[in-house]
Order: sequence, then C-alpha cells, then structure tokens
Amino acid sequence: MSVPFLDLKLQYQQFKDELQPLLDDLYASQQFVLGIPVSEFESTFAQYCGSAEAIGVSSGTDALMVSLQALGVGPGDEVITSAFTFVASGSSISALGAKPVFVDIDPETFNLNPKEVLNKITKKTKVVIPVHLFGLSADMNPLLEIARETGVAIVEDACQSAGAEYQQQKVGTFGTTGCFSFFPTKNLGGFGDGGMVITDNEALAEQIRMIRVHGSKERYRSDIIGRNLRLDALQAIVLDVKLKYLDQWNNRRREIAHFYNEKLKPLPVTLPLEHPGYHSVYNQYTIRVEERDKLIPYLEDKGIGYSVYYPIPLHLQPCYAFLGYAKGDFPESEKAAETVLSLPIFPELTQKQLNEVVQALEGFYAQVR
Ligand SMILES: *Cc1c(COP(=O)(O)O)cnc(C)c1O
Repeated sequence: MSVPFLDLKLQYQQFKDELQPLLDDLYASQQFVLGIPVSEFESTFAQYCGSAEAIGVSSGTDALMVSLQALGVGPGDEVITSAFTFVASGSSISALGAKPVFVDIDPETFNLNPKEVLNKITKKTKVVIPVHLFGLSADMNPLLEIARETGVAIVEDACQSAGAEYQQQKVGTFGTTGCFSFFPTKNLGGFGDGGMVITDNEALAEQIRMIRVHGSKERYRSDIIGRNLRLDALQAIVLDVKLKYLDQWNNRRREIAHFYNEKLKPLPVTLPLEHPGYHSVYNQYTIRVEERDKLIPYLEDKGIGYSVYYPIPLHLQPCYAFLGYAKGDFPESEKAAETVLSLPIFPELTQKQLNEVVQALEGFYAQVR
C-alpha cells in the first residue's frame, strides 16, 4: 500500500450530493462572476472568522496585493515579511512596485520573529505581513504592539490558516486585513483559484471592492485604477458548502498531528511545536530532519508521500537576487529550508495509512542508527 501526500478525491465524495443541485442551478442561471453566491459566501466567511467585512477575490496572492494597494502601498514603500514562506507573500509586495524587506523566523514555529521585525522598521515601512505558516498563527501580540508604536499596518497572510486561532481569536482578524487562499490544497480549498480579504474597516472594504472590479462602483465609470480580481460564483458555491465541514476537517488534522507527535517522539526528528494559546489547523505537518537527502529516497521506496515546504527561502530566490541578499543573512530560514519535511496530514487518511507513515520513519531510523 502507498500513502499519498494529499488526495482530495475522498473529500469530494463527502459533499458531492449536496453540491450537485447547487451547481446545476448555477449552470442554469449562467451567472458565473460575483453575484449572490459570492455575497452569500462572503457573509458566512466573515461570520465564521468574526470580522465585519469579507471581500471575495481571485486568489490568496490577490488578497494580499489588493490589501496592500488599498492601504496605499506603492513605489518607494517597504513591506516587511518572513524570509521563510511561499513566494507570493513577497511577490504581492513587488507587484505594487514596493520593496519587500525580509526578516528571519523563530526556529521553533517557522513564523517571523517579532524582534527581528522591530529592527527592520524604517520611515519607509508601511506594512508588516506576518505569515501564519503551516496552519499555525504567528506571535501576534508583539506584532500588534509594534504596529501601535510605529503606525505600520498589519496585513495577515492567513492563506494556510483558515480556522486557526491565537488566544481564542481567529487569525485574519488581528490585522488591518486578513488574507486567505482557497487554492485546492489549502484547508478550505475550491475547485480552482480563489481568495478572501477580511477586515473590520468599512472604508477599506469599499476600496477593495472597487479595486476588485476595475476601480468602479458604477458600471463603466472607474474612480480609481483597479484590476480584475473577482471570485467566481462557482468557487463561492463550492466553498460555502465546504465551510460547514472546515472545523471538523481541521480537528481531524489536529488529531493526526497529535498521533504523529506521540509516535515520532522517540525518533531523532524535530516535531512541530504548538505553544499554549495557539490553535494550529495543520495545513502541513512539518518536521525537521538532519538526513533529509537519505530519508526522501527511503520514503519514495516505501510509497510514502512527502513534500518540502520550502526548499529556498525568499531572500535566496533567483527572482530576488536584485535585492542583494546573500547566504547567511537569515540563518534560521536557511536552516529550515535545508531540514524541513512535510508528512501526509489530510483528514481522510486512515489509521492504517498513518501507521504506515510512522513505520516508514521508524524503519529508516532503525537502519541509520
Ligand atoms: C497559498 C499561499 C499564498 C497564495 O495563495 P494563492 O491562492 O495560491 O494565490 C500566499 N501565501 C501563502 C503563505 C500561501 O500558502
């Protein structure tokens, strides 16, 4: 038997019958862009997170970009984010002509280190983007303190963390905006690309709604330069059905994480950490291993799925060579990139499959010892 890293087909079977008539109605209506399904999903998602406003957009990357644009970020501005994240946390900054400024991570959580953030704030800093990586919230209190003291805005990259909490409050609700991705592999994934911005700031929400449709409130009259960043009705319908299952699926991910923690404890691997006050939704279960180059072929041989998120930190990405960073600039991010390994953690995994993952790791370490 083999264990896939991720298999979404099983999950689809769970809500297929409920979804089918809703999609049939959509096809009959032929109203595919925005519309009632999108505004309905915006309301349910806002309610789920505990925010006043939610604006459906075309992707998580666009959620970040439109947040920054609405906050007035542009050429000459600096935006601080983590060096260890998906490239979109940085490229959404670059898309507006602003300069991404990277900071190193806390090695225990893989999330940006608030102390490093303070050191990087200049007169040009407009926004800090904390990334809640792998489903775990960044340490928000010190970041909110920095925001209060310096006047910078916080835009949360919650793309991997729908449903995650920090001190009993949902991520995405701490910053000026919170940004979500509905890419199919996220905990709440659609049938293609999609994203959401949440905010309590009504004026900002209105700006974002305008930017999303060519800068217009009124058809064919554009008050500001906008873009086309709309969420499709089809995605909204799928996501609205799936949102009802999100807590259940996230809890199952947590159960799997706790099982791995228990079983892998005796092995010479570093397990993911969840400090008190955090509620991770484990979009990834990421361990650190010193001998990754040997472990990977072993897992492949046993048919165990795995992934490396992320092999190259942002400051060393070829696209960011022009920023002039060098190897050694962010040692914790670099160490993480060299040692991380994510194991299968989707909710539909069977106990038998989980045992197989554990046995493969046990087998590997029995052999190298
Ligand atoms: C997935 C992801 C994004 C981008 O979301 P898309 O919907 O793929 O554009 C941004 N940041 C992080 C941390 C992500 O994981």
